[in-house]
Amino acid sequence: MNHVEHRLAGWGNYPVEPGWVCRPHRLDALRQLLVGGDQPDYISRGLGRSYGDSSLNGDRGVIMQTGRNCFLDVDAQSGVLECEAGLSFAEIIEHLLPRGWFLPTTPGTRFVTVGGAIAADIHGKNHHRNGSFGGAVLDLELMVASGEVIRCSPTENSDVFWATVGGMGLTGVILSARIQLTPVETSYVRVDYQRTRNLDETLERFSQTDADYQYSVAWIDSLSRGRSLGRSVIMLGNNASRSQLSPRQRQSPLEASPPRSRSVPFYLPKIALNPWSVQAFNSLYYEVHRDGSRLVDYYKFFYPLDSLLQWNRIYGRRGVVQYQALFPRETSRRGLKELMDKIASSRLPSFLAVLKSSGSAGQGILSYMYPGHTLALDFPVTAGLRPFLKELDELLLQHGGRLYLAKDATMSAETFAAMYPRLNEFKQIKSRIDPENRFVSSQARRLGIVESS
Ligand SMILES: Cc1cc2nc3c(=O)[nH]c(=O)nc-3n(C[C@H](O)[C@H](O)[C@H](O)COP(=O)(O)OP(=O)(O)OC[C@H]3O[C@@H](n4cnc5c(N)ncnc54)[C@H](O)[C@@H]3O)c2cc1C
Repeated sequence: MNHVEHRLAGWGNYPVEPGWVCRPHRLDALRQLLVGGDQPDYISRGLGRSYGDSSLNGDRGVIMQTGRNCFLDVDAQSGVLECEAGLSFAEIIEHLLPRGWFLPTTPGTRFVTVGGAIAADIHGKNHHRNGSFGGAVLDLELMVASGEVIRCSPTENSDVFWATVGGMGLTGVILSARIQLTPVETSYVRVDYQRTRNLDETLERFSQTDADYQYSVAWIDSLSRGRSLGRSVIMLGNNASRSQLSPRQRQSPLEASPPRSRSVPFYLPKIALNPWSVQAFNSLYYEVHRDGSRLVDYYKFFYPLDSLLQWNRIYGRRGVVQYQALFPRETSRRGLKELMDKIASSRLPSFLAVLKSSGSAGQGILSYMYPGHTLALDFPVTAGLRPFLKELDELLLQHGGRLYLAKDATMSAETFAAMYPRLNEFKQIKSRIDPENRFVSSQARRLGIVESS
């Protein structure tokens, strides 16, 4: 099989690494690669929307999965979708939303694959109600290192299933999956916008409204300080029913088309994002979002950033680290305050800060979510960033929190082991089905999931 050398990066453009890329479309070609391919090890790659190095593999093998993107079966009665793992959420929405089915949960971009969504056990704005993506996976087919294909589900090979859900591609190649979709009447969300004056009010509002709203998310002004620390614009939404639409919308309630997208044509210079421009943006965002209620179509509600292709270029060539910190419910108020205080008084502004309330824990052995609050922050890469993030890691650990593997690019092996107490269980399953570590990523090496060699 032909391997082509490419320079690869995740969405954060940090780190950037060479990789030997191959695209085996047929199963026998994939099997041959795993049992006798040139490279010492391989990692799967979907649409590369993880931020850091989870779909990179140093100067070694990377298996592109995007060519395996067929719909295999759709049961129009039950909403069960069977598809190849390289199918993207964008393709699923395009074909199935007009038929009244939507994804059980979705990240903030539709340009992810089903395989990537399972491997990261992704979560969305409905986590407090519906949990993470793995909960909607009925079963999946996995090609393991020996080339054998095994079917796994919560009841069949369940240990391998829960190691694969959230397992960041390290158990094998997810070939296909059956997913339970969610029925919807319209392609609109009824959104209530509410501004809060500080973090206490934001958390209070989440706990008051979590039961009433399917979706909730807060955009936080990350540079506000003192009594305004954590002031936010909260967006609370429910799927709109037909009767909530205007007469014109009611004529085609499931019609939705993505907005025309533009592209950021080049990497912006470093000077464009600085504490002053970020502060100006944050103040403006807070001021223009008045309290009120609106009908918003799915594309604008779930994927506001997708209309600007390659928007990650605004962070410049050096890239961005998205730091996503999850605090357990018991410590989140104090932990978030300390974290945000530290950020507001640093010289390292976060352009984007998004807070979500999280519901029940994902069952994946390395799944990220458990009940609490998760804050995602974008930090452009600068000279002082790594030591600063180390300080944030220590603070997060003191409060019993953890970082999200799909966003991580900098965590140390020690921090990871302290944050993910089921790591040994994961390693045992991996060593059983992948004894020679055929599946390795740069992240897995950095985090000590496999030994560096
Ligand atoms: C703008 C933006 C917003 C986001 N918002 C959210 C959010 O709200 N919630 C959230 O949870 N995440 C979010 N993410 C992260 C994203 O959902 C995950 O990183 C997801 O895994 C990306 O899928 P991908 O297909 O691009 O996978 P990649 O980034 O290519 O790979 C991610 C991981 O999946 C593994 N993988 C991919 N395909 C397979 C396969 N077929 N078999 C085995 N392993 C495989 C890779 O090895 C890697 O470890 C966001 C990302 C962006 C860029």
